[in-house]
Amino acid sequence: MRLDNEELYNFVIGKEILALYHANTVSTSITYFQNGGLLSRGAVENLGLYQTHQSSDDIDKVLGVWDDVFIDTTDLHSFFKRENHYGPILFELDRELIKDKSFEIWITKNNPIYWNNDTPTEERYFQNIDELKELWDTIPRQRKMIIIRNNSTPVLFNYVRRIIVDDPKVSITEKEQKTHLFNTVQRKIKEIITDTSPLNGKFTTRTCDYCYCTSNYLNQRSVNELKRLFL
Ligand SMILES: [Zn+2]
Repeated sequence: MRLDNEELYNFVIGKEILALYHANTVSTSITYFQNGGLLSRGAVENLGLYQTHQSSDDIDKVLGVWDDVFIDTTDLHSFFKRENHYGPILFELDRELIKDKSFEIWITKNNPIYWNNDTPTEERYFQNIDELKELWDTIPRQRKMIIIRNNSTPVLFNYVRRIIVDDPKVSITEKEQKTHLFNTVQRKIKEIITDTSPLNGKFTTRTCDYCYCTSNYLNQRSVNELKRLFL
């Protein structure tokens, strides 16, 4: 159910949620850079743009979340001390976006990958602010996703505070050609983000302490998976 923007904003302030986050692959993020905003997967498809395939694409259409922009209430990479499964580019967004009444905001009770066709709507989404207040502390952070419903045009770049880029410290070698993932990403960003871009100066490289990301990127991701995330 749609939550009242003002009531939700006050709730977020009360919970001391300082910023909001959206993680994605490099390729899909480049589509956003080139089109001036974040987009739902449905909007990218409708506009004939490029995005990285996700395993949930088909089911997302069935479950009615294909046209939604997904936002986390914390930086899950720092929170879990591991890489974000959705990709190495993290948009940090100002929480003021919640006050924008042009955004129809719902919040999930669980990641839609755990829903099926028969999951009732009251199990999918918080029904109102009172229920959100009552249940918030009983549901793990990563399951509660803020979603902007029915998105069809680029949004949110005016709320971007920083864009945090993972450096996996990994090179891949194919056909005797060695590609350093992070340097390649940096080069692409420099090509696209000009001095006059609203995102210029907002990029930062993630620094991690006691984090599993580098080891996971190196040992748990196949070359194809690293290419999907970074190239
Ligand atoms: Zn890390």
